[in-house]
Amino acid sequence: MIRLFEIRMEITESPELLHGRCEKLLGCRLKSVKLVKRAIDARHKSDMFYSCTVDCEPEGQIRPAGRVKFRSTDDAEYAFPKLEPSGKIVIVGSGPAGLFSALMLARQGFCPTVLERGGEARERAAAVKRFFDEGKLDENTNIQFGEGGAGTFSDGKLNTGINDMRIRAVLKEFVRFGAPEDILIDAAPHIGTDILRSVVKNMRNEIISLGGRFLFNTALSDIMLEGGALRGIRIKKIADAAEADMECDALILAIGHSGRDTMRMLYKRGLAMEQKPFSIGVRIEHKQKLISDAMYGSFSKVLPPAPYKLWTHLDDGSSLYTFCMCPGGFVVNAASERGGVVTNGMSNNAREGENANSALLVNVSGLGGGAVFAGMELQEKLEKKAFAAGGGGYFAPVQTLGDFLAGKPSSRLGNVEPTIKPGYTLGSISDVLPEDICSVLRRGIVKLDKRLKGFCAPDAVLTAPETRSSSPVRVIRDRETLKTNIDGLFSAGEGGGHAGGITSSAVDGIRIAEAAGAFLSDRFSH
Ligand SMILES: Cc1cc2nc3c(=O)[nH]c(=O)nc-3n(C[C@H](O)[C@H](O)[C@H](O)COP(=O)(O)OP(=O)(O)OC[C@H]3O[C@@H](n4cnc5c(N)ncnc54)[C@H](O)[C@@H]3O)c2cc1C
Repeated sequence: MIRLFEIRMEITESPELLHGRCEKLLGCRLKSVKLVKRAIDARHKSDMFYSCTVDCEPEGQIRPAGRVKFRSTDDAEYAFPKLEPSGKIVIVGSGPAGLFSALMLARQGFCPTVLERGGEARERAAAVKRFFDEGKLDENTNIQFGEGGAGTFSDGKLNTGINDMRIRAVLKEFVRFGAPEDILIDAAPHIGTDILRSVVKNMRNEIISLGGRFLFNTALSDIMLEGGALRGIRIKKIADAAEADMECDALILAIGHSGRDTMRMLYKRGLAMEQKPFSIGVRIEHKQKLISDAMYGSFSKVLPPAPYKLWTHLDDGSSLYTFCMCPGGFVVNAASERGGVVTNGMSNNAREGENANSALLVNVSGLGGGAVFAGMELQEKLEKKAFAAGGGGYFAPVQTLGDFLAGKPSSRLGNVEPTIKPGYTLGSISDVLPEDICSVLRRGIVKLDKRLKGFCAPDAVLTAPETRSSSPVRVIRDRETLKTNIDGLFSAGEGGGHAGGITSSAVDGIRIAEAAGAFLSDRFSH
């Protein structure tokens, strides 16, 4: 098999034409041609095209023409190691890390129990709707917590900065469970919240059919140790706070970055952790049309809503960057604690919303002399300030970019209507975020306009605070064995600071399933 890179395909062309084009480039007939990846090359607005990666099966000797980029590939597939199932394994959290851990272990016959403090998908959708419509927050079932974890109510972007052969396996599983096949070839794959909800439900059903079980509305409330090793856990029913002990030979923590109470409990019990750099900022919203026209010029009429990714470095060494950009999406209030407001973004598969939104972030590190929870405490403080600035009822503070740059509170909007629910209150972002963060935002946004014309439009709106783009804490684990300092206790995904985003959390979940499965197989084989 030969893999060809950077093959040009016109925006309006059919992928079938690639066959003849690749035969010409390789100078031989091809048995098969498969489009593996396509990315929009938008460097020149008047000459935009798809840059494709294509796998070809030649019929004879290849005679490459000109400067074609290629290499041979056996497209090695990831395979989960064969393990002897034994012992009782519990996974805490049903986000991407927990679900993929559970799926891999269930296929090996381990029969994992998945604990999830939030409700199952349908119950969760109703709780989120109640929050958006009436401002009634359920602290256990919300945008962060419940079946599928934080990713369920998201844009479902699947791109990742990591390089790992499990990525392809994760994408293929998503397709098997109902995601569109496009995610296997798009350079910036995305599922959308509408489709993700059924994907996670289908994963749950498969895990159950293999002998696993799910306990929804049930939280891990404590762990029991003996001589530095895990001996069991305590679980709490959310409905009546009734607690019960559960036997457990191995525990995978896949609790995400918002399980703050659980992280504090685990630290008290002696799980080794450290402070980790994270980011703070705002969500910025523009009209999607402005972004698509600036990115694609006249091609904006035939291409899907444009994404962007921007960054800039300032003279004082600080940086400003965009993150989790949601074309045609909505800003969401991703609160999970009473009296706190936090922003994020989501979209449907069609990305059909009027606005584009993205996090605008500034790095934060070395807080409170390195105290483990100093970052988490700052997040909590800013989320509470935002709640107060929004006037209560989980309304978020909003300011137009023009007013933010002019240093005056907003009293009216321009042509961009904020999408956050249950609502917003016009005011000043500087009432919420520290001055050093506001200063980087002010200076950086102006510079970003040079990279994306119109980014600095005065009508753009800022919503605060974006505090939970990553975990401010890391669970320390051995680089080789992936073990923590507590025998039998494993940490996976974003909450332990080992991943950032859906795909990397899923990949980490698989890695930890391999480690925890091997731990149990070893332990019970002696
Ligand atoms: C609105 C929004 C949009 C996002 N958009 C994207 C995107 O487009 N692309 C992307 O890559 N990433 C996105 N993210 C980030 C992504 O969702 C996370 O990186 C990812 O879900 C982390 O996976 P995880 O499994 O480690 O943890 P999570 O998905 O956070 O799952 C953790 C689970 O653990 C449960 N839990 C916590 N404590 C306990 C306990 N004590 N007992 C039982 N259960 C517990 C929680 O209820 C939760 O369901 C978005 C996040 C949000 C909030």
